[in-house]
Amino acid sequence: MTARIIDGKAFAAILRESVAEHVAHLKQTKGITPGLAVVLVGDDPASQVYVRSKGKQTVEVGMHSYEYKLPADTSEYDLLALIEQLNYDLSVHGILVQLPLPKHIDEALVINAIDPAKDVDGFHISNAGLLATGQKAMVPCTPLGCLMMLREYCGNLSGLNAVVIGRSNIVGKPMAQLLLRESCTVTVAHSRTKNLPEILREADIVVAAVGRPLFVQSYWLKEGATVIDVGINRIDQADGTTRLVGDVDYDTAKEVAGAITPVPGGVGPMTIACLLANTVTACCRAHSLPEPKRLTI
Ligand code: NAD
Repeated sequence: MTARIIDGKAFAAILRESVAEHVAHLKQTKGITPGLAVVLVGDDPASQVYVRSKGKQTVEVGMHSYEYKLPADTSEYDLLALIEQLNYDLSVHGILVQLPLPKHIDEALVINAIDPAKDVDGFHISNAGLLATGQKAMVPCTPLGCLMMLREYCGNLSGLNAVVIGRSNIVGKPMAQLLLRESCTVTVAHSRTKNLPEILREADIVVAAVGRPLFVQSYWLKEGATVIDVGINRIDQADGTTRLVGDVDYDTAKEVAGAITPVPGGVGPMTIACLLANTVTACCRAHSLPEPKRLTI
């Protein structure tokens, strides 16, 4: 069997188009332009790339992008003061603080200082709680993108066995909550899980969010499973260059899976597209306007 390749890049382009259409509609009919504020503290090169890409795509869909680049020695107090200012700023509908933050800043404190209604990353404790209790929440972008692709490729997910590998607050846990909400039978595997290959053999859906290159082996998978690879890992090549790979041994897994996301070009592009979609959703909620159904789940 050769898997269908889940083209996250194409999927993200369609989602961005829907976002752009809705932004244009909000401008024309209500005179409102959604705004996204991205806060970067320090000069981590990977974070700088992400922030640049987010800003560029925000502008491309017609939204306002506000970037705050703060030095690495910014105090927690000053960062919290900026968050408070953005919370009150009516032109800002979404606030994202790029993680990781420098060690002297308490990440949880900062994330929980964001107005939950503007928490487009969905990391605020209120949004985590709302999601866990099946209420309307801001859903974290990466799991949201994964679920959108799963729905597209699997249709109705009800009753399927889903295994999420990884239990982080930003991917594994919210992913498991979303799959539970879809009436999947969900298993969350993690670093202490015993017999992972045995657990995976029963899985109709596998979401790998481990952070270990090529970790999931093809012979662990059930034939025809849908595999979503969240991992982004750089590995060194013999010629001195680096290559981006996921958490799944893609080349062999695609011979067993029914559908699979590649890395790059799978989950990654969907994450930023979902950030833009969440910003539009937050803007609609802030103005008590109907939420565009295509932009959320
Ligand atoms: P994390 O380090 O916070 O969590 C990793 C999880 O993997 C942990 O819960 C741990 O228990 C589990 N784990 C570790 N070793 C394991 C093992 N041997 N067996 C089973 N489980 C094991 O990482 P994260 O933030 O959740 O990210 C995971 C991966 O996804 C990383 O590669 C990250 O770069 C990537 N990521 C990608 C996107 C995207 O947009 N594509 C977004 C976020 C994270």
